[in-house]
Amino acid sequence: MAIYYDCQRCTACCRWPGNVRLSDSEVAALAIFKGLSEFDFIQKYTRLHTGRRGLSLIEKSNHECIFLDGIDCTVQPVKPQQCQDFPNKWNFPGFEKVCQAIPREIPD
Ligand code: SF4
Repeated sequence: MAIYYDCQRCTACCRWPGNVRLSDSEVAALAIFKGLSEFDFIQKYTRLHTGRRGLSLIEKSNHECIFLDGIDCTVQPVKPQQCQDFPNKWNFPGFEKVCQAIPREIPD
């Protein structure tokens, strides 16, 4: 049996310091969603990924994602693939201590 984590929208991953990597198509979708040109979106909401390969979302001073408002993702309809994939396709050591996703067994 494999384990699948059901996201409870606790937003712990949105508060974790690090990179939210953006593909070109994600930049385009986010820019449209925010009513900005891609150039203006990049200027306002992105920075160079720490690996210097591509762009990441900027963070607030407390390390929350710039698009987190309380417990809501304000770009939910177009949130990046990296956000959609957590914690099942990637996670970080000890994520279970801060993430409230509920593990359940699924057939292989
Ligand atoms: S884009 Fe939305 S889901 Fe992704 S880290 Fe930011 S607030 Fe969280």
